[in-house]
Amino acid sequence: MPLGGVDEIGSNMTLIKGPQEDIIIDCGFLFPYEESFDINYLIPNLSSLDPARTKSIIITHGHEDHIGGLSHLLELIPHLTVYVTPFTHQLIEKKLAEKKIRFQYQIYRPDQEIAFADVNITPIQVNHSIPETNGLIIRTKNLSWGALYISDFKVDLKSQHEAPMNLKLISDLLRPCHKTVFFIDSTNVISDGKTPSENELQHDLAEIIQRPEKRIFLTLFASNIHRLNKIVELANANDRKVIILGRSLRTYLEAARESGHTEINLEDLYTPEQAKNLNSKVLVLLSGCQGDFHSALRRFSFGEDPHFKPTYGDLVVFSSKVIPGNEKKIYRIYNKLTQFGADVITASDYLIHASGHPGKADLKLLLEAFRPHFYFPIHGESYMLKKHQEFILANFPEVKVNVFHNYQEAILSDEEILINHHPVMEPILIHGLGLEIERSQISQRRKLATQGAVFISYNRKNNGLEISTLGLPILVESRLEQLKKNLSQMLLGDLQHRAESYIKDQLKISTRQYFNHFLGYKPVTEVHLN
Ligand SMILES: [Zn+2]
Repeated sequence: MPLGGVDEIGSNMTLIKGPQEDIIIDCGFLFPYEESFDINYLIPNLSSLDPARTKSIIITHGHEDHIGGLSHLLELIPHLTVYVTPFTHQLIEKKLAEKKIRFQYQIYRPDQEIAFADVNITPIQVNHSIPETNGLIIRTKNLSWGALYISDFKVDLKSQHEAPMNLKLISDLLRPCHKTVFFIDSTNVISDGKTPSENELQHDLAEIIQRPEKRIFLTLFASNIHRLNKIVELANANDRKVIILGRSLRTYLEAARESGHTEINLEDLYTPEQAKNLNSKVLVLLSGCQGDFHSALRRFSFGEDPHFKPTYGDLVVFSSKVIPGNEKKIYRIYNKLTQFGADVITASDYLIHASGHPGKADLKLLLEAFRPHFYFPIHGESYMLKKHQEFILANFPEVKVNVFHNYQEAILSDEEILINHHPVMEPILIHGLGLEIERSQISQRRKLATQGAVFISYNRKNNGLEISTLGLPILVESRLEQLKKNLSQMLLGDLQHRAESYIKDQLKISTRQYFNHFLGYKPVTEVHLN
């Protein structure tokens, strides 16, 4: 049963419910939609979990949409054992140490079966865009059912930095099972061909880093350690000094070094301060390729970084894609950089980004290796799930494909899969220092943001009346005296001996009407009596 990650990209979380225990796969967050303003993120609603039945969570890989909700889950179920690979463990530990959360963990290795009460689970190494990503083969003890669950992967048969995905092992493990089912990534299903291998980027990256510009700025997803390694290698070969700007790049590189995925030592790199006095060519790596508000890339592009300002002759390279929804933020950055005189290069100019998710040709390779009886597209927005279903049905008509949704259970019965619907629970919104904020409060924030506010304070003892406003046109100031007169008349007349709540309501109604008359909308109004 998925609690998140279906009909959306993010907050991946799935439950394996057996007769004896529940096992969680991943607990990620979702970046907020614009309408929830500047909250931090959303996480799946955890109230449907049964802590008494839940002892384990398996983490497939270290992306935030798979681990970002873990601190909230561990507060609810502190006794959970987190099954994790070494690199992902480093990432989680760094995140949770900031929040002073301790957790029990168990390191797992790909291909090594883990035995649980109802099922055995074998992690399968897959290719993605972060080291140590795994799919899961989940088999019942009597092999009546075998499932392949991979929420993020691509088939990179040319991969050199890690082993290509082991399609043969998937087939070997599922073949003995009586019935089989796949739960598969839909994020890149709109792409018809094969997702490029990370290796195919080398040619164009080399060409760019060899260019004569003295300063090259490059942004990419900080978790793509393999690409970072390659880029730093190219910079070294071309006598470019490397500088890192941005916390997330540092965090991922530290975790990668501690688990043996990179030789890059942050201590050996030049600091931004040192870089000012350098007379050689530089490569500045920046985090924040999605244009996040507080990121190094955005600060730099807006001329707000204390060490580097964009200028004529600079080259700014986006070795990344635009995640749907971030277009506006990123185009603003392209424009700012251009206004400063810098040249901008993106993945539409050169082959400098490869997705970590399967195109249609990748999916074909997987199904040619093993053809399951049943199939569920997961991890993608509704449109992608539907397109994924159509593609599998058209090419593999013998496979039964179901689109399902969060809070639906796929019940593996003897021969068939039954779908059981549970009431959908809305995701939880998290803001500030990790606190939940309710939807009703967000709708109040929306009113404050779009209609402004009026505050009225009335002292019954001395008839003192004060009015102030927030977020309204300045013109309003000149109309406040008239409003004050109107309200005073009411207070000294009809309202004099009425109950407090009645007085408050009447003042509120009159004030909102007064403003509506010349603004065309009613500001949020708060009345205080004392
Ligand atoms: Zn991922």
